[in-house]
Parts: sequence; structure tokens; C-alpha cells
Amino acid sequence: MIQLRYLIVVSILITSCKSTSEFTGFSYDPPDVTNTTGKTIIPQKQRIIGAGTPKVWVSNEFEAARAVDFYQVNENTFEVLITPENFPINNSPWYAFDIWGDEARAINLRLKYKEGEHRYLPKIYRQTEGLTFSHIIQNAEYDSATGSASFRIFLEETPQRISAHFLEHIRFSDLVKTISAYNQDFISIDTVGYSNEKRPILQITVDETADSPQKGVLVLLSRQHPPEVSSYRTYQYFFNTLISDTPLARDFRKEFIVKSFPMVNPDGVVNGHWRHNARGVDLNRDWKNFNQPETQAVRDALILQTQNSNLRVMYGIDFHSTNENIFYPINEDVKTIPDNLTQRWFPLVDTENPELHFVAEEFDTSSPIAKNWLYREFGIDALTFEVHDELDIESIRQLGVTSAESLMRLLLEEWKEQKSNN
Ligand SMILES: [Zn+2]
Repeated sequence: MIQLRYLIVVSILITSCKSTSEFTGFSYDPPDVTNTTGKTIIPQKQRIIGAGTPKVWVSNEFEAARAVDFYQVNENTFEVLITPENFPINNSPWYAFDIWGDEARAINLRLKYKEGEHRYLPKIYRQTEGLTFSHIIQNAEYDSATGSASFRIFLEETPQRISAHFLEHIRFSDLVKTISAYNQDFISIDTVGYSNEKRPILQITVDETADSPQKGVLVLLSRQHPPEVSSYRTYQYFFNTLISDTPLARDFRKEFIVKSFPMVNPDGVVNGHWRHNARGVDLNRDWKNFNQPETQAVRDALILQTQNSNLRVMYGIDFHSTNENIFYPINEDVKTIPDNLTQRWFPLVDTENPELHFVAEEFDTSSPIAKNWLYREFGIDALTFEVHDELDIESIRQLGVTSAESLMRLLLEEWKEQKSNN
């Protein structure tokens, strides 16, 4: 008995040490990532660059573009230089540029990275006479010695867009267009603050709870990290399922308000950043110090809008992308209300998307990320929902729809239980 008690005391000590130790960064983070005061960034010059004879042209003069330089290496080989907004930085080398030639011909194109290594499969997109052509280059060869990924393309006089992800539906301007097209009475759009470059931090509120005396709140965040597009697309299908005209979604909306912040880092998205905001900061390390206007805006909006005693924040999801499909829940031992919702949701998502091989890895709540702030502020369970970088769009749709449906069911069950316990 004494031994057992001793063991319990020791394990409590270990647990509490773990949760109070100063967080300095995840294994993949660069040094000093938790210093979120503004840093100097290297602005990208927007321009059209020509190289070789006959000329090959590259342009970065569009939203979300990134290509810092372009030059000829030998007769048939050309290189696009891809550098980040500042460094050190997490390895998320975003690129997007248009390329065309004065003469149609095949060339070897190399993506030359500085401060990072090849990560995203090149996507090619072209519009000719109203028709769209797109495909993904599966066989780009990465040479770690030179830091460049090379592949062959056939140049035309019509520009082709080469990018880390297809740009349709993921730009800031696409979001503005989407929200202006909502015609449901229960959707409202607010600007809750402004980014460093004075772009609106947009909030979409879904509220059809008029008659309910008690209302639950679901919080959604996305696009703190600009290149993490597969999860942003998942978020879009997820959100559209919540606002759809189905019996389940209608039932859900009678009880739950949704507070959604689809693009927390609009400056990073517009400027084609690898990860940071316009002050060179990883926003998802700023949820303790709140040095940046983007995180401040979301924090202040959520605190202010949930003060009404009729509202109870119930769950939060922050969408991200990485090299696998993975849930990062809050450690099961951490008491949240509701408790272990993620642990109950995960098997449902996994079972309904078996080919995605979802995994889950729990973390303590010490890191200054959005999920942990939601826990600290509201005492709720929250999740970092990571989607594979290169997940195809049909799997993304399936994941977004099914996970929204299973979460709505789970939250409704939990809501009934909590109300009957009151
Ligand atoms: Zn991320």
C-alpha cells in the first residue's frame, strides 16, 4: 500500500513537471520559435524575369506567388530560386510562378531551395481558350547535394502555372468571394481585427439557435500556416457540411453556434509565405504571448463573444497539414469539459476513412499553440487536425464531410448528456 502511494506521488510529480516545463519548440521547429516579437522579413520583388535565347519567362506577379529569381543553367536547363520570407524557418517551401517561352520547347526545370528542402509535388495548371488543364508531377527528382528538385516540362507561349498546390479555392481573394456569396440567414461575417498588412481577420458565425436557452459553441481555425492547403480544403468541406440543409446539420445548428476563422494568416497566404505572418512570426507559437495582431484578434473576438452565460464553448479544431493524416489531441489525462471528446471522435474518423491510415499522438498542453489556448481559456478539449500534404481532393472531400457528420452526432449526444446533468 505504501509502495503504491509512493508510486502515485512520484507519478504526479513527473506529470506536473512535464506540464509546467518551459516549451521551447517541437522537434521540427527552428530555434527561438517561441520568440514571437516581430522579425525582419525579406520582401519578394514582384516581376517578370526572362532568361536564355529564345527567351523563357517566369512571373511572380500574382496573388500567392513565390519565385525569387530565375536564370539559365545550361542550354536546356533553367532554375527558379525559392527562398522563404525569413529564416530560420520550418521546412514548408511554398512556390508558385507562371512560366512560358517565346518558342514552344521542352526544358529541364529545377526548383532551387534555400533554407529548406523539397516538400510539395509540383502542380501544373493552364487555361487555354476557356479550358483548364492540370496535373501533378509525381517524378520530380530531388538532389539534396544541390538542394534542387528537377523535372521536365514542355513550354508553350501560353503561361503555365507551377505551384506547390493548386491555387483555386485557397487564395485570400477566393475566401472573400466565397463569403460574399453566402445567402443563408444564419451566416454572418465579421472582421474581428486586421493583420499586420491591414487585411481583415475574417470570422464566419453560424447561428440558428434562436429558441435555445443554452447554446454550445464550436470553434474552427485554419490557415495559420499558408502552405497547409490540404487541411484548408478539408476545413472547407467540413464547414460546408455544418451549414448544409440536412436533418443532422439542422439539428446541430439548433443547439450549436459555429465560430470559424478560416484564414488566420491572410498576409502569409497573399505573399506566398512558407509559414510566417508579415512580421516573420509563426502564429501558431504565439498563443501565450499574443504579440501579433492576428492571434490577438481571434483571442479577443472569442473571449468577447462567449461571455454570455447562455453560451458554452464545447470544442475547438485547428486545421493543419503535414506528411501524414494525424490527430494531435490533448493528453487523455488532462481533464477537459467535455472530457476526451477527441479520443471518442478519432475512431469514428478513422473507421470512415480507412484508406487514410489516420494515427493519433497525444500531447501535453505546454506549447503556445491555438489548441492549448482553447483549453486554457475555456477548459475544453481541442484538436490539431493534420491532413496529409498531398491528399487527393476526393479523399479530402470524403474526410471533410464524414468527420463533420460524426462530430455533429458526437457533440449532440454530449450536449444532451450535459444538459440532463444540469
Ligand atoms: Zn501547421
